[in-house]
Amino acid sequence: MKMIYKPQEYRIKDERMKPFIDEDEIWEMLNEADASKENVRRIIQKSLDKNRLSLQETAVLLKTEDPELIEEIKEGARTLKEKVYGDRIVIFAPLYIGNKCTNNCTYCGFRASNKKQIRTTLTHKQIISDVKALEDNGQKRLILVYGEHPMYDADFIADSVRTVYEVKSGHGEIRRVNINAAPLDIEGYKKVKDAGIGTYQIFQETYNREAYAKYHISGKKSDFDWRLTGLDRAQEALIDDVGIGALFGLYDWKFDVMGLVRHVNHFEACYNVGPHTISFPRIKAASDSTIDPKYEVNDEEFIRLVAILRLAVPYTGMILTARESQEIREEVIRLGVSQIDAGTNIQLGGYTEKSREEQKLDHEQFEIGDTRSLGEVIDELLDKEYLPSFCTACYRKGRTGEHFMEFSVPGFIKRYCTQNAILTLAEYLEDYGTPEMKEKGYKLIEIKKKELKDVQKVEQLEERLELVKKGERDLYF
Ligand code: SAM
Ligand code: SF4
Repeated sequence: MKMIYKPQEYRIKDERMKPFIDEDEIWEMLNEADASKENVRRIIQKSLDKNRLSLQETAVLLKTEDPELIEEIKEGARTLKEKVYGDRIVIFAPLYIGNKCTNNCTYCGFRASNKKQIRTTLTHKQIISDVKALEDNGQKRLILVYGEHPMYDADFIADSVRTVYEVKSGHGEIRRVNINAAPLDIEGYKKVKDAGIGTYQIFQETYNREAYAKYHISGKKSDFDWRLTGLDRAQEALIDDVGIGALFGLYDWKFDVMGLVRHVNHFEACYNVGPHTISFPRIKAASDSTIDPKYEVNDEEFIRLVAILRLAVPYTGMILTARESQEIREEVIRLGVSQIDAGTNIQLGGYTEKSREEQKLDHEQFEIGDTRSLGEVIDELLDKEYLPSFCTACYRKGRTGEHFMEFSVPGFIKRYCTQNAILTLAEYLEDYGTPEMKEKGYKLIEIKKKELKDVQKVEQLEERLELVKKGERDLYF
């Protein structure tokens, strides 16, 4: 049966849910920005002094083309990451639940008109099997991903979330389930909230209406405003943990960085809390996809845009996915990324299948750039003295706005984040690490403990580390 969607089916009940992107305003700011050396340096310093940048100031950084200043922007982002957030990297994995889709997003392998795509929706049994495989690997945090289809309604999503939480394998369990799915109505969000979700992510893809219309040719997603206001309805349903994103390569990247920052401003103005995370995926090859190569974002531009976002919204979490190659991930992580996926397999049922030589694009959404296992990624992070973290403490302790607290509450990172990262790393090393990794990991833990010494007593952490070694799990501050 063909789905017919009437764009104005929903009502905008509230002023706050009115579309808030003013394209002329964004272009005017980009065109009129004063990208002089003094101004760019003043703005970088403002961010390093822990101040949020305005939309106009973001436009200045975006307009900067002087290579010397671009280097200073990147250096500023690295300094901010090192000084403010330190070296923790939170790890998660995506789990694709179903690839049926009634939309036609021209860039996506799941688009309804792609007859080559093999459509699969994981059954309960298959979800359990995949989650077990993920847990046996050491994962603790998942993001569930769905196409947009009447079958994947709020009840279905809530049900799959509950199924995931119920799976336990040895010491393994999933402690936080995030969602990347179509926008829902308020009632729908309430249902998925009740299932205990963490973040609800919706990417606007592009904030430019005309470009959006070009790429979203049919289906419910072709309604720009329904999508733009999607996370406002989540807020109305009291989901205050939301993630925004833009798909880079659809339209002018500078415009879309402005769109993301405008979206953050909107949340702060209306709900007193910004989005929890920002994602900035770049378009990758996909089965039967078409895009306009004019807007391709090269590596240099991508690195720049991440640095600018870091400086512009210094207290929002930034997610970098395995769409990018290992090399780009290494470079970009230093600029302020707080979360990455690892051990990623986006084939439907792929975690159970295990023996995979190469991606089958007709059973996946797009091509990924980093196919390393979770163990390999952790190994590399340890080599570079990053602290891999599976922490889920704030969410479970009801400490919402954690990124803001990390940024603004003196000592918060050392008191909570570093210690919890250490405890979750120790769990990983005990349950899933090779002897070599264990040695490396515990050496790093010793270094990190020393860094904590001057600010607080570490006895409690040491006691808990001993308990982890004895088999206790899920200890956190
Ligand atoms: N179907 C839902 C939707 O579109 O909102 C759920 C998420 S979709 C499966 C996840 C995200 O993947 C999309 O929001 C889009 O940004 C991204 N995506 C789609 N096609 C892509 C491609 N070819 N390369 C990289 N990312 C892509
Ligand atoms: Fe469907 Fe999402 Fe792909 Fe669009 S991006 S075709 S909505 S799965």
